[in-house]
Amino acid sequence: MEAWFRYSDELGLGPYYRDRAATQGVYSAPLVSAEPASQPVPLAMAAGAGARRSPLPAPSDGPAPKPAAARPLPQVSPGASLFDERIEGDTLDLIREAIGANCTRCKLHKGRTKLVYGVGNPKAELVFVGEGPGRDEDMQGEPFVGRAGKLLTQMIEAMGLRREDVYICNVVKCRPPENRLPEKDEIATCSPFLMRQLAAIGPKVICALGSCASQTLLQTTEGISRFRGEWFDFRGSKFIATYHPAYLLRNPGAKGEVWKDLQKVMAVLGLKPKRK
Ligand code: URA
Repeated sequence: MEAWFRYSDELGLGPYYRDRAATQGVYSAPLVSAEPASQPVPLAMAAGAGARRSPLPAPSDGPAPKPAAARPLPQVSPGASLFDERIEGDTLDLIREAIGANCTRCKLHKGRTKLVYGVGNPKAELVFVGEGPGRDEDMQGEPFVGRAGKLLTQMIEAMGLRREDVYICNVVKCRPPENRLPEKDEIATCSPFLMRQLAAIGPKVICALGSCASQTLLQTTEGISRFRGEWFDFRGSKFIATYHPAYLLRNPGAKGEVWKDLQKVMAVLGLKPKRK
């Protein structure tokens, strides 16, 4: 098992599996950019109704623009899902009400203590999307409050923001048992509410944390290491994927890559890194 985990890490598949009880490494902000620049990779995405690769220009003070993808990406078909259409006048409060505090739409409700809706600025320019609540989040009803959450907060602060400036939510709103990955049916049931949240906020930038969030929003099965750090268009917001903070707790060496991704976000939002 251990060897398999190590092998998956070497392949860059770490974020696929979870380790929210990771024991090593504490984030020290700002992250150092010690890693070599990542190479542009052609992206082949499955057809989807979520984000699509866009010809967005790289920010002028960001890293060098990457060449266009070798293969054209599939176009998003309008109206492919009920939730592709924006709901006029939708708000975070209405969506929370629509879910209900006692949601039983999927099996995750059985082991849930508290539903974790999302937290932060309803007009945030930046939204972080994680996978699903862990033990601490399930107890407190707030996303990213455990060890990975503390790391995320440090990342946000390193960007020159406060946690309350951004919005933080997850693909699924109830804790998967034993912190397993959310299953397809659970994602299918819950993610329409995430789509509504994103549409109601209308952020400039959406940053997906880890494989589950990025694959769900990009509607792809490609591994995150193939597209992290690349800009996409997600229904009018700029979209970027980076590694999950829980992955960084286990793999502090990947912090440089994540910091590069966050610097791209900062360039778009006109942010300066926090002074020490
Ligand atoms: N990991 C997530 O993906 N989300 C949380 O809210 C906490 C940990």
